[in-house]
Amino acid sequence: MLQSSPIPGPRRKIVIASPRTFRCLNCNEMINDSMTQCRYCSATIDPVAAQLVAERQEKAKQAYSDASYLRTAVIAMFVFLGISFIPFVKVLGWGFVITFFVVLVLLVRWMMKCGRLVTNDADYLRARRSWRLSLVLWIVAIPIGFIIRPLVYLAFELATR
Ligand SMILES: [Zn+2]
Repeated sequence: MLQSSPIPGPRRKIVIASPRTFRCLNCNEMINDSMTQCRYCSATIDPVAAQLVAERQEKAKQAYSDASYLRTAVIAMFVFLGISFIPFVKVLGWGFVITFFVVLVLLVRWMMKCGRLVTNDADYLRARRSWRLSLVLWIVAIPIGFIIRPLVYLAFELATR
């Protein structure tokens, strides 16, 4: 990605395969690391620092989109859980069980991939909050889905016998 000539210093040549966009540390506008100066505030961009910042922001963005998939899976899980309480559509309970495990996998994957990222990026902080909320909701789903729901089925069967 980034190659510099052996001569260090401000005039070294930088070859960048594809410029990455990132937010200027000075003015927060979107710029890319092929620039030597911010287009908006004229702050000088250190190419190496820019590369690091761009990489970190890219990871934060990834963490954010992964967390929103997780949130979607949590919503789907609760929709299935809610519907499966209606005894006549018991079969949809499988939708709950499947999404329950999908959420578990996504929770673990996010933690392994993005959990240790050290950044104050707003997207990342939002992603982490969303991850924690998903974890809480997943835990809440355990007693509802695996204890209360079977009891409701049992009660229904006894009542309609
Ligand atoms: Zn700037």
